[in-house]
Amino acid sequence: MPEGHTLHRLARLHQRRFARAPVAVSSPQGRFAGSTVDGRVLLRAGAWGKHLFHHYEPARGGPIVHVHLGLYGAFREWRVPSGGEALPEPVGQVRMRMVGADYGTDLRGPTVCEVIDEARVSDILARLGPDPLRSDADPSWAWGRITKSRRPIGALLMDQTVIAGVGNVYRSELLFRHRIDPYRPGRAIGEAEFEGAWTDLVDLMKVGLRRGNIITVSAEHDHGPPSYLPGRPRTYVYRRTGEPCRVCGEPISTAVLEGRNMFWCAACQQ
Ligand SMILES: [Zn+2]
Repeated sequence: MPEGHTLHRLARLHQRRFARAPVAVSSPQGRFAGSTVDGRVLLRAGAWGKHLFHHYEPARGGPIVHVHLGLYGAFREWRVPSGGEALPEPVGQVRMRMVGADYGTDLRGPTVCEVIDEARVSDILARLGPDPLRSDADPSWAWGRITKSRRPIGALLMDQTVIAGVGNVYRSELLFRHRIDPYRPGRAIGEAEFEGAWTDLVDLMKVGLRRGNIITVSAEHDHGPPSYLPGRPRTYVYRRTGEPCRVCGEPISTAVLEGRNMFWCAACQQ
């Protein structure tokens, strides 16, 4: 599932490609009622956690397209052909197509793609924790939730109402980097430990935002067994079950926590 940095990258890209001009919005597949935004000027695109918002004119009370990619959703961008040639035919089930002056993009397979109003946006944001990639993020809010909880920190990190935007890769990698056992209850995390991990998470996600990849392994450990997938940066623990820890050499463990496989080194993370 895309993590928060992917949504922020999409928001920036859509802002660059489509903002301040009218956008033709359609649903080749027919499952998105986008006619209320079709032809309107896109004012801005923004993200909070794994949620993407396209704000259309007018500035007050204008419609907003809300997208959540879920596990399978993805945008694919294309150039608008010059010289009046026909636009590319939609391939597969395109839920939403956006066409600007120079670029178009096709959205396939999202969990959510809907037109909503400001009040509904507020409802969604009210249920999300701070997003490490937003300058207005308030980590003390997340700390308040964690320090009162008996739930394992590995579960709390996946809870979007605690911190918004962290997914399965950042969860496992962050806990390894701070040598925290994923089963430790939130209430047993120290405040300095949380602050260190939050600062690190902000830095890691900013790297992800800039580079488009989740990069968590420091230069001194970036060697040895290859990454879990060709073309992806190495990870400390993510999808490395049974392989030797890059720091201590013990085999990496895995278990299902919050419905997703979690990975950790039982020797390093105690
Ligand atoms: Zn280890």
